[in-house]
Amino acid sequence: MAQLDANGMEVEHESDSKDHSIVIINTCGFIDNAKQESIDTILQFAEAKKNGLVDKVLVTGCLSQRYASELKDDIPNIDAWFGTRELPRLLKTLKADYKHELLGERLLTTPNHFAYFKIAEGCDRPCSFCAIPLMRGKHVSTPMEQLVENAKSLAAQGVKELILIAQDLTYYGLDIYKKRKLAELLEKLSAVDGIDWIRLHYAFPTGFPMEALDVMREKDNICNYLDIPLQHASSRMLKSMRRGITREKTTQLIKDIRERVPGIAIRTTLISGYPGETEEDQAEMLEWVEEMRFDRLGVFTYSHEENTHAFKLEDDVPDELKQARAEEIMELQQSISQELNEKKVGRAYKVLIDRVEGDNFVGRTEFDSPEVDNEVIISAKEDYLRIGDFAKVKIEKADAFDLYGSLVQGT
Ligand code: SF4
Repeated sequence: MAQLDANGMEVEHESDSKDHSIVIINTCGFIDNAKQESIDTILQFAEAKKNGLVDKVLVTGCLSQRYASELKDDIPNIDAWFGTRELPRLLKTLKADYKHELLGERLLTTPNHFAYFKIAEGCDRPCSFCAIPLMRGKHVSTPMEQLVENAKSLAAQGVKELILIAQDLTYYGLDIYKKRKLAELLEKLSAVDGIDWIRLHYAFPTGFPMEALDVMREKDNICNYLDIPLQHASSRMLKSMRRGITREKTTQLIKDIRERVPGIAIRTTLISGYPGETEEDQAEMLEWVEEMRFDRLGVFTYSHEENTHAFKLEDDVPDELKQARAEEIMELQQSISQELNEKKVGRAYKVLIDRVEGDNFVGRTEFDSPEVDNEVIISAKEDYLRIGDFAKVKIEKADAFDLYGSLVQGT
C-alpha cells in the first residue's frame, strides 16, 4: 500500500466506495475456511468486473502462491495472479515503480494507535499439519536495526502498541545471527520512544527462549501477555504432529513461564480432529485444558492440506465430530474464562481505547489483543475518552469474553 501511495495512487483498505477502479485481493491459503473466504471474495469481484463495476482485479497472497494454476483455469475473469514474493511484478502490472527506500514503510490498516509488526517471514519447523512453509518458504528474520527503524517510524506516526508477529516468533535471529535473539530485540524495541505496549503473538513452545521472559518481566512496556499455540495435549498426537514436545514438557513450560512472569496472560490455540484422534485423546485434551486454565484459548478444526506430512494419514475424524470436539473444548474454556474474568471485578486496569461503538467506548487491557481477546466496555454517556488514549478503568461486571467498567475519576 505504501508503494502504491508513493506512486501517486489513492489506496484504500477494504473500501466501501463504489469508485475503485482496481481491486487487489490479498488471499489466505492456510486452512479450508480461509481458502473458502478467499475464493468467495475473488468470485465476488470477478462478478463485479463482469458487471462493469470495477476495471481490474488482481489476486495476490498465499492462496494464489499455492494454487495459481488451478485458480487461473477455474476463474477466468481475473487480470493477474501473483505469489507471495512478487510485489515488484504486481507494481509493474500497475505501471508503478518498486522503491527500495520504502522497504518497511506501510499505510496502516489498523486504527492509528496499534500496528501488527512482522519480525520474520517463513518457517523452518516441521509441523505435520501445516501448509504455511509451503507458501511462505524458509524462516527469514528481518535485521534488528531495520526493525528498530520501522518501530521508530511507526511511533512517529502515533502508534503506541506494537503487536509482534511471525510464523514463529521464538526462532527470531537463528537464521541471520545464528542465535535466538528475541530477548535482545525486545530490549531494543522497548527503548523506542512512544511505544507504550509491545505484545507477543505466535511463540513456538519447543526451544522457547526463556530469557525473553526476563525482559518481559523487567520492562514496563512489554505486555505480560504471550500467545503460544500448543495444538494438543496428548503426547501421541503431539508426536504425530511433529511438534518436538510432549504433554509433560508443555505443562512444565507453562508453569515455568508463569513463574518467570507472575500474572502473565497466556493465550493458546488447539486443533480438534487431527488424524487418528480418539475419544481418549479428546478426554485428555479436556482434562489438560481444565488443569492449565489458560487465560485465552481458541480451537481450529483440523484441515487436511495437500503436500503436508499429515496428508499421508487418513483424515478419519468426521467433520461433525471435529466440530463437536472443538465446541466441547470451547464450552469448558468459557467457564474458565468466566471465572478468571470475575476475579477482575473491583480492580482497576490501564485500558487502551480502540473505538467507539454505539453508546460505548471499547478498549483493552495489556492482557488482551485486538479482535481475539476480552474487550473492556465503558459507557460513553458518563465518561469522555479519546480513541488511542490510555485510561484507568475500574471493572464493575464481567462475562466470559468481555469486561464492563467505568473511568477511575481523576485519571
Ligand atoms: S511453527 Fe507454526 S507456521 Fe511453522 S510449521 Fe509449525 S504451525 Fe506451521
